[in-house]
Amino acid sequence: MQRLNLRIPGPTPLPPVAYHLLRERFQYFRGPEFAALFEEIADGLRYVFQTRNEVLVLTASGTGGLEAALANVLSPGDRALVVITGVFGERWLQIARAYGVDATPLRFPLGKDADPEEVRRALRTTVPYKAVLLTHNETSTGVTNDLQAVAEAVRSVEEPPLLLVDAVSSLGAIDIRTDEWGCDVVVTASQKALMAPPGLALISVSPRAWEAVEMSRTPRFYWDFRRMREYAARQQTPFTPAVSTLFGLRESLKRIRTEGLEEVLARHRRVAEFTRRGVKSLGLRLFPDESCASNTVTAVRVPEGTDADEIIRRLHDEHGIVIAGGQGPLRGKILRVGHMGYVEEKDMRKVIKALALVLRKVTSSTDSGFGGS
Ligand code: PMP
Repeated sequence: MQRLNLRIPGPTPLPPVAYHLLRERFQYFRGPEFAALFEEIADGLRYVFQTRNEVLVLTASGTGGLEAALANVLSPGDRALVVITGVFGERWLQIARAYGVDATPLRFPLGKDADPEEVRRALRTTVPYKAVLLTHNETSTGVTNDLQAVAEAVRSVEEPPLLLVDAVSSLGAIDIRTDEWGCDVVVTASQKALMAPPGLALISVSPRAWEAVEMSRTPRFYWDFRRMREYAARQQTPFTPAVSTLFGLRESLKRIRTEGLEEVLARHRRVAEFTRRGVKSLGLRLFPDESCASNTVTAVRVPEGTDADEIIRRLHDEHGIVIAGGQGPLRGKILRVGHMGYVEEKDMRKVIKALALVLRKVTSSTDSGFGGS
């Protein structure tokens, strides 16, 4: 393919090595090649989001996507019910409050999922809520909330609030029927189950949510959904997009389509089940209730008398495997193993084996009766 002689004031031409890696031909984001890339991605996103809505492409991480969604749909003083099952639910609450939304938290104990009946009860108020904010998959505790049931509870209200879903660690791995279940805004990010580099937030917006976007009194400029929609109609983004990330995203969306979404979801169920069995076989205890344990991240309790940081460090140094610890109140108390996107059982088998070796070492250093050296 012939190189474009890019002489626009940025993006600028790349050195040959980088060019071959990133194919700068497409870095000109107002050209016809970009339009084709954009269209292919838009189509692939509608498939994965299971929606006919416009899926907006923002240059941002997941949190930027959540903030943009909130700023576009709600106005200062609007009432929102925030369903909280961990750190990311708390983040929704912080964002809502930062924008002057009158947000009421509905908290559930860490390791449990949200009870849809409690959501239904909480929504029975004299002053109606404008929105419900939910984290579909609570990455910090390894819990998946029953999105379908919560969505039903939300719709059962006489004047149903809008449902805004943080699907950052679920979309593309755990079933989300955006249109069928009535999810008004669904936010995800490129770097999780969508298997692309970080840099993009992807957001579907329902017709009802678009009405709210038109009415919102929150000041917006870079994050204005209305301008994004205008540009999307001509296969462009208003501002310079993360073009190389879009490349990665196009490839991964193709992969998902080829494998088939049903099969992708089934693979995540299998890999998660395999992981849960594996960690339990090592004597570890799952942190969440098994009934709501996530298919994208498995959280286990750190065994009594062992140091979470040491386990994480040894896995990294001795086996080249990176896992996560706990966040916020769960720091030092749990370990989290991710299994979303480009992952199969054999990948998790390696993790379980390495974890077995590391656990043997760390327990033998604290407990001489364990039989290690
Ligand atoms: N929500 C959830 C559920 C997440 O797991 C994450 C990232 N771990 C975020 C939001 C924030 O995403 P980002 O780091 O891309 O801003």
